[in-house]
Amino acid sequence: TEIRDLLLSRIRDVPDYPTPGVLFKDITPLLADPAAFAALTGALADLCARTGATKVVGLEARGFILGAPAALRAGLGFIPVRKAGKLPGATLSQSYDLEYGSAEIEVHAEDLAAGDRVMVIDDVLATGGTAEASLRLIRRAGAEVAGVAVLMELGFLGGRERLVPALDGAPLEAL
Ligand code: IMP
Repeated sequence: TEIRDLLLSRIRDVPDYPTPGVLFKDITPLLADPAAFAALTGALADLCARTGATKVVGLEARGFILGAPAALRAGLGFIPVRKAGKLPGATLSQSYDLEYGSAEIEVHAEDLAAGDRVMVIDDVLATGGTAEASLRLIRRAGAEVAGVAVLMELGFLGGRERLVPALDGAPLEAL
């Protein structure tokens, strides 16, 4: 489609970043293009409306850049899910496995509650570990998952296969 081609044309492939053998998808050209940035955040906001989301969670750090304008455009509040140790208030934390070692993400406990329907937004779905951990956080807070929306998924890393069982029928949308 037209929007898909526009978005794809503004993503830069960076070989061997951050480590040799990795092809990094760089979204900064897209962010710098107001037409592409507006098309992307508009599509994310539409998805929030279609799924009946009542809040947007953005995953640090690029999920903040995409999630905050999408939330504003959809008329919803924005909630940051951060790497451990960055939020000043009472938090819920969730750890998850990486290829080597583990990582931990947190959310302010008071930002999510029963009755909320949460759309999770990030730039890239890779292995799905980060997104899956965010679904756990949302449910542990008593809230419901409206869906997960990303700009792109790296299909060969199997994130969709990992995430779909955890989504319980909620949509995973890769624009
Ligand atoms: P996952 O947990 O393996 O799915 O990794 C997803 C996280 O890593 C997201 O927060 C992405 O921002 C980041 N990430 C992984 N690969 C890329 C990439 O090629 N470009 C930009 N971000 C990436």
